[in-house]
Amino acid sequence: MAETHDLVVIGSGPGGYVAAIRAGQLGLRTAIVEKDDKFGGTCLHWGCIPTKALLFDAEVYDYFKNASEYGIKCQGFSLDWDAVQSRKNKIVTKLAKGVEFLLKKNKVEIIQGYGSLAGGRRVSVTEGEGPGRAGAGKPRELTAKNIVIATGSEAKMIPGLKPDAKTILTNKEILALKNIPKSLVIIGAGAVGVEFASIYHRLGTAVTLIEMLPRLVPLEDEEVAAELERSFRKQGIAVHTGTKVQKAAKTAKGGVSVEFTGPDGKSQTVEAEALLVAVGRAPNTGNVGLEKTRAKLERGFVKVDGYMRTDEPGLYAIGDIVAGSPLLAHVGEMEGIVAVTHAAGREAEPINYRQAPNCTYCEPEISSVGLTERQAREAGHKVKIGKFPFSANSKAAILGVREGFVKIVSDEQYGEILGVHMIGPRVTEMIAEAVVAMRLEGTVEDLAHAIHPHPTLTEAVLEAAHAVADAAIHI
Ligand code: FAD
Repeated sequence: MAETHDLVVIGSGPGGYVAAIRAGQLGLRTAIVEKDDKFGGTCLHWGCIPTKALLFDAEVYDYFKNASEYGIKCQGFSLDWDAVQSRKNKIVTKLAKGVEFLLKKNKVEIIQGYGSLAGGRRVSVTEGEGPGRAGAGKPRELTAKNIVIATGSEAKMIPGLKPDAKTILTNKEILALKNIPKSLVIIGAGAVGVEFASIYHRLGTAVTLIEMLPRLVPLEDEEVAAELERSFRKQGIAVHTGTKVQKAAKTAKGGVSVEFTGPDGKSQTVEAEALLVAVGRAPNTGNVGLEKTRAKLERGFVKVDGYMRTDEPGLYAIGDIVAGSPLLAHVGEMEGIVAVTHAAGREAEPINYRQAPNCTYCEPEISSVGLTERQAREAGHKVKIGKFPFSANSKAAILGVREGFVKIVSDEQYGEILGVHMIGPRVTEMIAEAVVAMRLEGTVEDLAHAIHPHPTLTEAVLEAAHAVADAAIHI
């Protein structure tokens, strides 16, 4: 006999669990189906949280290494990798328990098992890790007025390679290494690639970063990408852009060898102890019963409207599986709220993806929202740029940082803020100001009249706003 719910969510990543909590808050009889034995998805277990925990450890370690710069004599310190790993794991476990607590607090029924769409507002759940696997129990059938699918994504692999615990790595294996590798090749310089480059370089690994496109962080503003490349090279990270990987294979010595051609067509080979493949993500839409529905796919991603509705009545899709949506936890969370609010018959506001911030927690950090300078020009705007370097910001001087900048892309006519791009210290904590300004349709002038506290890094935003009118004070 099928069990009935108002809403069933498949997947407990940041998209799914936030959707389920909001559904509970709205009084919907809600169930969440998760195939793993833990809640929180990629973000909590193999993405946002563990990487940022390691990045913070790498930052602290860096402070120790450079202590003399701050007038501190520091001898005999060392990094305890097991302790670093255990701290990271404790943070993840605590937060995962927090997710479970919040689901229960909001009366969400938790169902552990593999969920798939059975058509006609039905979800079939198989206990165990997947349909047909050993130990899989009798399928349980749920019916729901509405279903939210949030099955997330997995790392793509280079054909012919298979991840293992030590040598060929994705974001999962690299988070559980027994030792810090002496050398590491990273293929792919998007957010995942450059964050791991920053972690392991600072932990003492010789890092080589290989990117097919002409620049690092290809989605970011070109000046930001150039500043990151300059900084990475200065730090001692070997950077190869505009390259094509010809061959990547394990060596007889137990390491890896990567052969690639650069923009000049010359072939090079790098050998290392380990290889991280960070060439993008593939949506988990293959084995979840979407073919039993009218939902449409676009290169494997699910097509939705502004309310996250698929073409199947009562079926919503959110998070990394959504076509055209940036693969970011905070975007998935908001999509979950939009979908559930709509499913509950309340007034929902479609997401404006142009106002979704991107943050990359490499060293130096990067954050952005809105159009890059090139996108703004290509869209026909008469662009006015305001830029302010952290080398002229007092708080950055206190922190001992001299690189990076804040760049505002605006439309000359009314001072509309089209995009804000930052690279430098703690800029991932600063981008929300730009998001709010854009959401409230604030102009560059509004930003320039907003009093910013001194001495803070946020003054660089104020100064960049002044700079749009060629009136920055401290430069
Ligand atoms: P996921 O988090 O992937 O969760 C999907 C869940 O569904 C999983 O728990 C999975 O087990 C479950 N599931 C899948 N299929 C089924 C099924 N059939 N039945 C039941 N359960 C199922 N984003 C940021 O915003 N900030 C960051 O700092 C950041 N850092 C990242 C670092 C790395 C290394 C990576 C890889 C990603 C990072 N991301 C970051 C991206 C972020 O992790 C994802 O955008 C986010 O996790 C997507 O959420 P989701 O809910 O769509 O899916």
